[in-house]
Amino acid sequence: MEKIVVFPGSFDPFTIGHESIVRRAFPFFDKIIIAIGYNSNKPGFFPLEKRLEWIRSVFKGEKKVEVDSYESLTVEFCRQLNAKYILRGLRTSSDFEYERAIAQTNKMMFADLETIFLLTLPEYTSVNSTIVRDIIRHGGDASIFLPKAVKI
Ligand code: ADP
Repeated sequence: MEKIVVFPGSFDPFTIGHESIVRRAFPFFDKIIIAIGYNSNKPGFFPLEKRLEWIRSVFKGEKKVEVDSYESLTVEFCRQLNAKYILRGLRTSSDFEYERAIAQTNKMMFADLETIFLLTLPEYTSVNSTIVRDIIRHGGDASIFLPKAVKI
């Protein structure tokens, strides 16, 4: 059976930290669906279409990668796609506490779903979309934190 993993997030914007997690997951899965969880009442900083376009350009030509968005619960999105795995990245102990609660709740709602965590590489521990947005909001250059294809 095809091993499908969903990498959900807001990716506002997609950083080199996110890219690294996806590339390191390549050997374990047949298909990786990078999915922007979207709430139309809270549209985020960058427009959804722009965020999707940036991620697509990062993985252009990568046959294993698909990019999508959803407004439903993540577990329902996974069920629809027949994905039995969720991918998440861990940077700090606060990430761990947040991720633990979400992963355990998801598991209670969808027993066959496993959340797989990859620990960030040391050099990406401080790469954070919130900080990137702050830099951009104040007119700074955040390009060192972004994949080359993400031209803001
Ligand atoms: P969310 O809004 O769901 O937290 P994010 O876009 O901020 O979405 O992050 C998506 C996933 O990527 C989360 O699991 C987060 O911990 C992980 N992540 C974010 N930045 C990094 C990084 N620098 N290194 C590793 N994982 C990261």
